[in-house]
Amino acid sequence: MSAGSDLLAVDRLTLSYRVGAKKLRGLKDVSLELKRGRILAVVGESGSGKSTLGFAIPRLLPGNAEVEAGEVRFAGNDLTRLGERQMQAIRGARIAMVFQDPLSSLHPCMTIGQQMSDALRAHRRIGTRECRTLAVEMLTSVGLSDPDENFDRFPHQLSGGMRQRVMVATALLLRPDLLIADEPTSALDVVLQGQITELLSSFPKRFGTAILIVTHDLGIADGMADDILVLYAGEVMEYSDAPALISHPLHPYTEALLAVVPSRKDRGRPLPTIPGRVPSADEPIDGCAYAGRCAMTRSVCHGKRPGLTLVGERRARCHIHDPASGWHDAPAMPGSDGATA
Ligand code: ATP
Ligand code: MG
Repeated sequence: MSAGSDLLAVDRLTLSYRVGAKKLRGLKDVSLELKRGRILAVVGESGSGKSTLGFAIPRLLPGNAEVEAGEVRFAGNDLTRLGERQMQAIRGARIAMVFQDPLSSLHPCMTIGQQMSDALRAHRRIGTRECRTLAVEMLTSVGLSDPDENFDRFPHQLSGGMRQRVMVATALLLRPDLLIADEPTSALDVVLQGQITELLSSFPKRFGTAILIVTHDLGIADGMADDILVLYAGEVMEYSDAPALISHPLHPYTEALLAVVPSRKDRGRPLPTIPGRVPSADEPIDGCAYAGRCAMTRSVCHGKRPGLTLVGERRARCHIHDPASGWHDAPAMPGSDGATA
């Protein structure tokens, strides 16, 4: 969100999934910007559209996904309009991905070395020996033990943490400008989670890579991201620099997400939750998507969709921050905190 030109700019991206005769909500008017060497975290509950956004950028969505509007500008090109050949040249080389489960992303019958060499050869004409040198160099730089030996091993011979390091090394082989990591640590134990998060956080400085990390964990987002984008039911609820969002959330949904982060001082107490549920993907939403669960809801929230309001340099999709929305004059809903705001 800081000054300078953007490597990636998603502009009002709207897409849906077709399932039979139904059109399911995927993303609605999602905009974001990411500069070289910066880290943006996309957070939200399950089903909020985080992976949909991560996969939409390199156009890796399934065939039933349909972009209805918007642009994905990457290094001067609108990716929604590029031909498949041009996209193939960008994927892997300029935009790389790391997924949640390294075991299902690695081929079980091919050695680590074969898979890394294939990734290199898909974009560059290089010989076997050079592939090995480059791959072992990258395995070393992501902290994999015995890189030369592990180059010749099969995925099942490595632990989960080692496999995720291999995935990260493979993604970085071609020195991509942008790394999209979808829940890269959720299949790992907390110690490994910390190590992989630290490793990813070092890439902007070491390689100039920009990172878009998808996570349901605000703690991870807080620890590594420069900016955080909060998604809910496919919409951006809040988009802000990380320290401000964590210390002074603008949106009641961000506040609720922060309140449910487990803390050791709450030991022995039941884990807090956000009451209610995310609206289902085929449920029409007239007003604010979060209105049904929000403690600040007033009548206007159910009838009018809030715009993304600028609050300084931050953005929040909430009527509270728009003086013209009518929220401040609207009657509060019985029992809501909005009555006293
Ligand atoms: P999670 O935290 O569980 O990974 P998410 O935030 O990544 O969730 P998405 O996987 O992006 O959520 O899904 C967003 C919405 O789109 C959900 O309602 C989901 O059911 C729907 N969806 C995702 N993929 C498809 C698909 N191929 N066909 C139909 N609907 C889909
Ligand atoms: Mg997901």
